[in-house]
Amino acid sequence: MGFDEIVGNEPAKMILKRAIEKDRVSNAYVFEGIAGIGKKLAADIFARGLVCENREQAPCGICSACRKAIAKGHPDIIYLEKEKDKKSIGVEEVRSQILSEVYMKPYLSPYRVFIIGEGDILSVGAQNALLKILEEPPPYATFVICVTSQEKLLDTVLSRSCTVAFFPLSFAEITSYLEKDFALDDRTRLFARLSQGSIGKATELLSDEDAERLYEDSVAALLRLKKDASNVREVADFLTAEKERISEVTDFFQTFLRDCIFIKSGMGEQVVYENKKTEMFLFCETVSKKALIQAFDRLTEFRLRLKQNINYNASVAETVMCIWEDFHG
Ligand SMILES: [Zn+2]
Repeated sequence: MGFDEIVGNEPAKMILKRAIEKDRVSNAYVFEGIAGIGKKLAADIFARGLVCENREQAPCGICSACRKAIAKGHPDIIYLEKEKDKKSIGVEEVRSQILSEVYMKPYLSPYRVFIIGEGDILSVGAQNALLKILEEPPPYATFVICVTSQEKLLDTVLSRSCTVAFFPLSFAEITSYLEKDFALDDRTRLFARLSQGSIGKATELLSDEDAERLYEDSVAALLRLKKDASNVREVADFLTAEKERISEVTDFFQTFLRDCIFIKSGMGEQVVYENKKTEMFLFCETVSKKALIQAFDRLTEFRLRLKQNINYNASVAETVMCIWEDFHG
């Protein structure tokens, strides 16, 4: 029940283990990496290591401190949580959940660990409130902030933190993890590839009854845009019907296009959609690499527009039309 629970990411584990062993712990860490690769789990295990009573094998997983930490009931491990009805973590939450705790000496262990699992949604105000603490932190306090990208944090926060990078996992690492819960069949392999190195994403897709249908429909829709113009409307209708899951559909589209770009570049062995290779090779014969890249970029733009408050149907219609035109040179 220690760092070996975390799949892959040996360098990150080494940094954290050494910090515990040598008792040289920074006041703030930023765990950076895509969603679903074990950053929060690593934060939990690191915190456990800091409070563990068996310093030689911390975290031992069996001492009373470890057991409390595993049950999320250790008084020296504090989680900064988002309020239920809010989309971000504001200055109020930092005040009520951290400021009220951080100047109290540890109860049971040498450290007090503050874990911010959702660093991406820290407001600027919240970060500035944290910064005030990080400028003169109590010696026993350690913060762990998990983010998908350093860009989510202010430079001033980053400069006071030690960044630990977490990397996407290899296909072998993901499948060996998934094997514990899922049969290693074509579906599991497909979603392991589609997850792009994220165990969280792979598990989410595998637990989703509708994911395979959505994947098949998405690939079919994209291929239709190579056919005559009457298909434009149908593909737009498909995207309108799948509005709730548009982020996944766009993911499926872009992954397919990226695979085709790989094939065009002589790197066919790198494709994600192995089970669509035949369709892809045929498709690639009729579409230029430039058109594939253009279509890919249009989808990136489409994603950005969705984040603003645009007219969904109009944006879908325009994007689909443009991709159809790209495909027809
Ligand atoms: Zn322990």
